[in-house]
Amino acid sequence: MIYTIEKANLVATQLKKFTTGYAHHVVGQYANIDFWLEEVITAQRTIDAYRYRFNDMRDAQKEWVEKHDTQVFSYCHICRGKCELIGDNPLPPSPPKRMSSAVLDTTRKELVNAMYYFLTRCYRMGLLNDIQLKQKCDRIGTSIDPSDLET
Ligand SMILES: [Zn+2]
Repeated sequence: MIYTIEKANLVATQLKKFTTGYAHHVVGQYANIDFWLEEVITAQRTIDAYRYRFNDMRDAQKEWVEKHDTQVFSYCHICRGKCELIGDNPLPPSPPKRMSSAVLDTTRKELVNAMYYFLTRCYRMGLLNDIQLKQKCDRIGTSIDPSDLET
């Protein structure tokens, strides 16, 4: 699992735990809401900039391989290493694989939802008012479904 996805999932898992916890635990976590909002926003930025970081990584690797004529042996699962049958058959290393945008999108959505459900639970408990809820949802780029606010 790549860093970008793990980071977002870690924050989302934490928020889901808060959301389903006892009321007195929810209150305690809401006291740190600005910290958790920053964690979500940082993880969102990490996802949004992934493709730029990936391109830089791929280009730097490609340049190095071309400049140094880098070659690697392909791993043989039968020989558990360099293949005894085909012998030395070095090839340029294959380029890194990009994480699919579908996975990135799903991860981002789950992260935002996790914060959204935490915030709406806090709202139903009376920890924040309509304006505060709207401001916090705006910061993470999500809208509010009125049916989530009914107690
Ligand atoms: Zn082999």
